[in-house]
Amino acid sequence: MRKPIIAGNWKMNKTAAECRALITELLPKVANAKCDVVVCVPFTDIALAAELTAGSNVVVGAQNVAWADSGAFTGEISADMLKEAGATYVILGHSERRQYFGETDASVNKRLVQALKNDLKPIVCVGELLAEREGGKTEEVCKRQVEGAFDGISAADAAKTVIAYEPVWAIGTGKTATDEQADETIGYIRSVVKALYGDAVADGMRIQYGGSMNAKNVAGLMAKPQIDGGLIGGASLKAEDFSIIVNTAK
Ligand code: PEP
Repeated sequence: MRKPIIAGNWKMNKTAAECRALITELLPKVANAKCDVVVCVPFTDIALAAELTAGSNVVVGAQNVAWADSGAFTGEISADMLKEAGATYVILGHSERRQYFGETDASVNKRLVQALKNDLKPIVCVGELLAEREGGKTEEVCKRQVEGAFDGISAADAAKTVIAYEPVWAIGTGKTATDEQADETIGYIRSVVKALYGDAVADGMRIQYGGSMNAKNVAGLMAKPQIDGGLIGGASLKAEDFSIIVNTAK
């Protein structure tokens, strides 16, 4: 049995004061969660979020990590810095990083190596564009992204990684993949992991769905056998909505 994992991706939202208010409201609402709960907050909120969640069942994640240890990399944040601030998880290869900031399969791979080397738990995002789905290329794209991200990664390290399947056309659009589409593609991604690492890693790996997941559609998605949780953008910014999602994931 894979324990579901629900992770909020706050993106570039929530000042420190807003972070305090959201986490304070959220904690009692998710205290009895049956899944792992993560909030991936902006860099400037990590230390505060870690302080507020200390001793709770919620852990904190970042939204990216540099692929170098330290040095002349203006604008980047190192794994050491994230860990010292209190991050446990890190999102890698989010489609917004790929779309707006030139992230590639190769750079995602370098960041994944760095996260694993530093014991940060990675959430690797993959997913196709609308034109790719319409062109029948969903599997080809997901395979390329998974193989690219995991290039040279050992089975032991792969087993520590979460994948988030996020069809780009469903992110922030209100257009969710159907339960069947999400389940089918996640099953396909698991088969790609199986081809790389064998049954044990593939069967144990948690693969989330992400893309306009919300309090209304979470039950249908979570009922599907391949879907092990969610990466939640918009709906993670409201304690009530996020807690419904968390408490539905069992
Ligand atoms: C995301 O940012 O990973 C995401 C899935 O966003 P949303 O839930 O808003 O579609």
